[in-house]
Amino acid sequence: GKRIHNAVNNALSDTEDDYTTTVDTMLKTITTALLQSDVNIRLVSSLRTNIRNELLSNNKHNLPPSQRKKLIQKVVFDELCNLVDCKEQDVIFQAKKKKANVIMFVGLQGSGKTTSCTKLAVYYAKRGFKVGLVCADTFRAGAFDQLKQNAIKAHIPFYGSYTEPNPVKVASDGVAKFKKEKFEIIIVDTSGRHQQEEALFQEMVEISSVVQPNQTIMVLDASIGQAAEQQAKAFKESANFGAIILTKMDGHAKGGGAISAVAATNTPIIFIGTGEHMHDFEKFSPRSFIQKLLGLGDIEGFVDILNSVTNKKDTQEMMENFKKGKFTLLDFQKQMQTVMKMGPLSNVAQMIPGLNNAAQAMSGGADGGNTDFMDNASKVVKQSIYIMDSMTKKELESDGRCFIEEPSRIVRIARGSGTSVFEVEMLLMQHQMMAKMSQSTAQNIQQQEAMKQMG
Ligand code: GDP
Ligand code: MG
Repeated sequence: GKRIHNAVNNALSDTEDDYTTTVDTMLKTITTALLQSDVNIRLVSSLRTNIRNELLSNNKHNLPPSQRKKLIQKVVFDELCNLVDCKEQDVIFQAKKKKANVIMFVGLQGSGKTTSCTKLAVYYAKRGFKVGLVCADTFRAGAFDQLKQNAIKAHIPFYGSYTEPNPVKVASDGVAKFKKEKFEIIIVDTSGRHQQEEALFQEMVEISSVVQPNQTIMVLDASIGQAAEQQAKAFKESANFGAIILTKMDGHAKGGGAISAVAATNTPIIFIGTGEHMHDFEKFSPRSFIQKLLGLGDIEGFVDILNSVTNKKDTQEMMENFKKGKFTLLDFQKQMQTVMKMGPLSNVAQMIPGLNNAAQAMSGGADGGNTDFMDNASKVVKQSIYIMDSMTKKELESDGRCFIEEPSRIVRIARGSGTSVFEVEMLLMQHQMMAKMSQSTAQNIQQQEAMKQMG
């Protein structure tokens, strides 16, 4: 992400009017960054051609540099979004009420199938469906117990067997039982092997032919990088899945590999997994996915917005501190107040780490049924301001670590601000994330300075 920003900036600070050279230099850097995020080389090169054509057409070099920068970013961004955006109104399977809808999960072992099954079950249960989970993984010891524990926690009825070794039989029995009991969504979890063995595919095909799924979902681990394309292709051939769930997006992986998987199988990503908990589940959004991939949801984009709406002095002071690696709760409070002033939160919400999750937790999980996510985001922001209003001056000017030594203060602050201990802890966590970002920004800046001095 940083690389792309720098490329764009360097290209534009170049006063020489050789626009073509500028664009090519910039494209080279962007290409490298995309390849490093595991985007497939063929895709990158076609992307490069498209972007180049777009930028070099119609005398775009006549634009003033500030507009050129925006244009370049927009072209890159739009092209990438096109790759993952399926453009259908709603790609999530529209289950019919009062009918048995069977959803089958496939994917390699460890990709996150069992976890995602429960998450999807919760998603439908919240929408008023009668949902049941079937464990057709008889291969891995403990598979049934894992599904059972998840299901109990989520209050979802389940089916499985400790004695029947044949997964096809278990799947068929489970689906039959739930159908008889008028369940509306029946989710079938299958086993995965370590490798893409023949036996796995055979088993998948057999299960699929007995349970006759209305939808098959492939679960893909974001951290497998470039391997995603091959894996998705192999699965597509035996189990013609209609959707992808991309897991472990909370880790280091940016999921660039998934772009190739989507392109190779022409199948949309519908949800992303962002943690191990059943609520760590978000509807896939092409724009925020690409923003993260490019690092646009980072502090620089945020500063641009901040600068456009705030009192320059406040922001400058805050950014000075931020760049020094210092970010107090007071800075955080100022930031939240600024966010409130900005009106629509949609652009800003994604730039503050943790805000997405906080807003979702408030609405009770992925997209929260009928409550509007942006409403919640703005509630979270307001609440954060109340919480920080209840802190002492000393606490506000601290790095927040004082609360570890004196946890009773958290309880007092929660009471004082009319919030819960959990909400105060959540806020402190968000602040810690921002503080960490501030430290890495400071490091980056120092490195850049050092590089400059070296010549
Ligand atoms: P399965 O073998 O495909 O059924 O995979 P599991 O559902 O058992 O998941 C394998 C491991 O990945 C477990 O430890 C899960 O808790 C973890 N996991 C699943 N989804 C996610 C996710 O979105 N984020 C993180 N951090 N871990 C996940
Ligand atoms: Mg499993």
